[in-house]
Amino acid sequence: MTDAIIIGGGLAGLSSATALASLGLKVHLFEAKPFLGGRATSYPAPTSNGDTQEIDNCQHILLKCCVNLLDFYRRLGVSDCIDFEREFYFMEPGGRTSHLRRGILPAPLHFTESFLRATYLNWGEKIALGRAMLAVRLERKSRKDLDQISMLDWLREKNQPPRLIERFWRQVLVSAINVELHQMAAAHGFQVMWLGFMAASDTYEMGIPKVPLAQLYGNTLKKVTGHERTTVEAFDPERGILASGQWHQARTYISALPSDRLAKLVPQLEIDFDAFEPSSITGVHLWFDRPVTTMPHGTLLDRHIQWFYNKGEGRYLMLVISASDALLKMQRQEIIDLALRELTEFLPAVATAQLTKAHVVKEPKATFRAKPGLEAKRPTSRTQIPNLFLAGDWTRSGWPATMEGAVRSGYLAAEAASAALGKPASFLIPDLA
Ligand SMILES: Cc1cc2nc3c(=O)[nH]c(=O)nc-3n(C[C@H](O)[C@H](O)[C@H](O)COP(=O)(O)OP(=O)(O)OC[C@H]3O[C@@H](n4cnc5c(N)ncnc54)[C@H](O)[C@@H]3O)c2cc1C
Repeated sequence: MTDAIIIGGGLAGLSSATALASLGLKVHLFEAKPFLGGRATSYPAPTSNGDTQEIDNCQHILLKCCVNLLDFYRRLGVSDCIDFEREFYFMEPGGRTSHLRRGILPAPLHFTESFLRATYLNWGEKIALGRAMLAVRLERKSRKDLDQISMLDWLREKNQPPRLIERFWRQVLVSAINVELHQMAAAHGFQVMWLGFMAASDTYEMGIPKVPLAQLYGNTLKKVTGHERTTVEAFDPERGILASGQWHQARTYISALPSDRLAKLVPQLEIDFDAFEPSSITGVHLWFDRPVTTMPHGTLLDRHIQWFYNKGEGRYLMLVISASDALLKMQRQEIIDLALRELTEFLPAVATAQLTKAHVVKEPKATFRAKPGLEAKRPTSRTQIPNLFLAGDWTRSGWPATMEGAVRSGYLAAEAASAALGKPASFLIPDLA
């Protein structure tokens, strides 16, 4: 008999499947779509000459503090498909650029030189930032209400100037957690700041996959039996899962579905599904007839677009707008016009280049809204059904909705399932600090 059936082939499902298969267990994975990776994937898009080019649904980046995601890539043998960038570029309209990179001081002071040199903040803002960073260090363990208050409440309590909030805190945290500061539990903001920027001097390094995302996951299917294009239509603890008109049974089941899908499949679970509200991300792919930049990426201040990534010789740029609910109502062409207008303010070459192709991806349900008070409602991997375990970035992984959070949830569910199967194992790698 099959040991485990995994429902959903996103990062949570793939990581739990890979972990269980590493114990020699017989694992089947069911994924509704024709490709693996869920929300972190790539697919063929038509080009102007009639061919197709595989593009990511949206640029996905990780930081070096994503230790479980990196472990998962190692298990798949694809670690060398990730390039690490050691420098961030904060760009002001007009193009003036400040570099954020590690200096000679040890952590947590390794960015001191970069902040002292930065042109996008004035001296008062730099001093206020230093004070707040120190407070993060002091309060992250001692303060008990960080999951109950918003990040914005906390920043106001620390008298952070509005422009500093906008140009530093919002710029960094909204991109990382995909929710505006007034809706973000301060605990998540603290975690990003601490693990990414303070705990060690290299954890901020930004990993960018150098192959289309779906290509990272192919090796999963060497150890796991995959059923792609196969939607799971029903679940019954006794009969198993119903897919393609057939019941499939296993000793254990892991749901690695998003919360709204699980609510439909197993509504009897004691989970407050309504508490999980979606938050959107919009990606804009732009192809030009000539290079418009030589920079690898940049974070754009004071505008809608938060990041651009150079995906090919400065001619193909991928732009990202997190927490982009305001853009959902806009037409495709309006978004492209907005993107070109804003990009021209930072990269003047855009004004004279011809746009040869554009592709807009709106993901209305990119992540859940990591609001104050939500953490206690995130379910753990065990359910009231003894042979059903949960994974997914929305479950209680210890991280917000990210690739790292999804892999952590997958490893936690695999630990629970392996114990139930009489082969207890530990997969989760603890955070660095
Ligand atoms: C546009 C965008 C940009 C992002 N950028 C980043 C980033 O830069 N860095 C980062 O860390 N995170 C980023 N994220 C978040 C990250 O992608 C997600 O947190 C993570 O991929 C979620 O993984 P998951 O496995 O929990 O869920 P999913 O990826 O949603 O996987 C669930 C899978 O279940 C399948 N499924 C659904 N119903 C069924 C069914 N009935 N039967 C079978 N299969 C089913 C789905 O097709 C899907 O493949 C981004 C997300 C989006 C959308």
